[in-house]
Amino acid sequence: MINDTFRHKGLRKAMVEKMRDLGITDERVLAAMERVPRHLFMGAESVFDEMAYENKAFQIGSGQTISMPHTVAYQSQLLEIAQGDKVLEVGTGSGYQAAVLAEMGAKVFSIERQKSLFDKTAPFLRELGYTSIKTFFGDGFVGVPGFAPFDKVIITAAADEIPRKLLEQMMIGGQMVIPLNDETKTVMRRITRIEENEYEEEQFIDCAFVPMLKGKAY
Ligand code: SAH
Repeated sequence: MINDTFRHKGLRKAMVEKMRDLGITDERVLAAMERVPRHLFMGAESVFDEMAYENKAFQIGSGQTISMPHTVAYQSQLLEIAQGDKVLEVGTGSGYQAAVLAEMGAKVFSIERQKSLFDKTAPFLRELGYTSIKTFFGDGFVGVPGFAPFDKVIITAAADEIPRKLLEQMMIGGQMVIPLNDETKTVMRRITRIEENEYEEEQFIDCAFVPMLKGKAY
């Protein structure tokens, strides 16, 4: 049974207003976030459902987190999703970001390196009705070449380097949103594939993410 009440919907409306206050303007992002029942993505860690609708990140087990709502909204907005876009997400985690993108009309391919999280989240997304989201257990540095090329790529962990194989899995005109570490901080970047071998890079806000790690974890 999916427990999503009028009270939860009210909390979500307030969260969305907060996102507006924080400068999120893409109405499709806001509408999607108003639909996804974030409190169900928090696992046993969430004591009170209200906490799910505060602008905070939370532990979801296996040392991982569900990104704070503003981060999800910000990355989703930078992706400029069009209906039917094929999106590769690195770091399925709780599945929340994937659900928001699916609500925006994207075809989501999401990859997670932690087996325990993958085993939990993949069936959970199906149970919630997000049957169009394809989940993969694997290393985001390798990507999902079998389903490439993608219109958009979203990395939801902080990377020390831009994954070269993912650049190759982007369509011409495609975009990647990635939190990239420099010596002192993590900066959100957007990379656009202009031509076969030409990429353009833009820089946005400083941010905080768990690290993007190599290989799979069991
Ligand atoms: N998008 C998630 C955020 C999860 S936190 C959500 O909405 O809840 C980042 C996730 O990235 C973690 O689950 C972590 O295990 C995963 N991750 C880190 N490095 C990875 C890699 N190389 N490949 C795939 N997943 C990775």
